[in-house]
Amino acid sequence: MSDEQSHEKGQPGAGPSVAEVALFGLCPKCGAKTLFDGTVKFAPRCRACGLDYSQFNVGDGPAAFLTLIIGAVVVGLALWLELAWHPPFWVHALLWIPITALSVVYGLRAGKAALLASEYRNKAGEHRSDGPHEDS
Ligand SMILES: [Zn+2]
Repeated sequence: MSDEQSHEKGQPGAGPSVAEVALFGLCPKCGAKTLFDGTVKFAPRCRACGLDYSQFNVGDGPAAFLTLIIGAVVVGLALWLELAWHPPFWVHALLWIPITALSVVYGLRAGKAALLASEYRNKAGEHRSDGPHEDS
């Protein structure tokens, strides 16, 4: 599990992609698996390269949005299950509570990591140029 040497890219120092950061909780700078300190909490900084994660202001903006989407999906699935099989109520509870909790946790992880990664890339990109710069 510990040796993931598959992050070699053409450009040295390019770091992992946003998707890799989101899926695996990698440091956007060095690719070490140090982004999360707990389930959905960012670590204060990368233990491998020292990148300060607290400089990125990801916030909980996406959390409410994500919860709404997951809620809608789960309700849709629950309705479908109810109409298809008419299971007793405890089946719904047993299924949807853990599914919802897991979706929210993993969705939040991935969403926050993706935001942090894109913020990191923006900061790295505007290293020398001041002023607003539309990334394309
Ligand atoms: Zn790092």
